[in-house]
Amino acid sequence: MIVNKEEFKRLKSEGGSLFKAIHTIANLEYGYSEIKCGTGLNVYIMNNGILGDIAFGKKIYIDFNSINDVEVSNDKLIISVNEDEVENKVVFKINNINSINRIYNTIRQNSNLEYKEIDVQQCNVVTTNASNIATTDLSKRQVEKERVKELKKDHIPYCPKCHSTSLHYIEKRKRLSLGRTLVGGAVGSLVNPVGTVAGAAMGGLTSNKMKKGEVKCLNCGHTWKL
Ligand SMILES: [Zn+2]
Repeated sequence: MIVNKEEFKRLKSEGGSLFKAIHTIANLEYGYSEIKCGTGLNVYIMNNGILGDIAFGKKIYIDFNSINDVEVSNDKLIISVNEDEVENKVVFKINNINSINRIYNTIRQNSNLEYKEIDVQQCNVVTTNASNIATTDLSKRQVEKERVKELKKDHIPYCPKCHSTSLHYIEKRKRLSLGRTLVGGAVGSLVNPVGTVAGAAMGGLTSNKMKKGEVKCLNCGHTWKL
């Protein structure tokens, strides 16, 4: 329930030391029409209940006796309360995910609810994120693999290091033939049948260190011989 400042002060001193309380920064995601969803606040699990302190704003008090159930979903603490005969759900998004287990079971214990393990799959955000990242990396690699496969199939030369197709080929009177692949040791005739000089077009990019018959990747700078 929403309490006034004086009452909040009294409840705070009744509930034991703030330093002994479990504290977390949270966001009130749901619960009180007077408070905007998502409002940031300090949450203290005291001996007498849960105190929610919005800086320069409303104060919340949830009596342990009014709590019917607590659930955890991802980083959210969902508290089912019965305040003044009205059933309601109060949802806090807990910023410090590591303290969620302690908060959860402290509330359960003080509200005379049985001990419950948090379903790891439900709440372990860190693990979920890590596996998501791994999946993303895997699919990225898969996409890259497919792209290289396509390049090979189409005989498009590419950098063996970064797979870029922006390549600079150094040889006078000869140019890169797009019909041949430059990787995997497959060296065919690179002489353009028409005999045009392509190197000149990119001449400004030629490094002095580069020798004839060398290919430089314009993306990563990797140089290799044909
Ligand atoms: Zn490269």
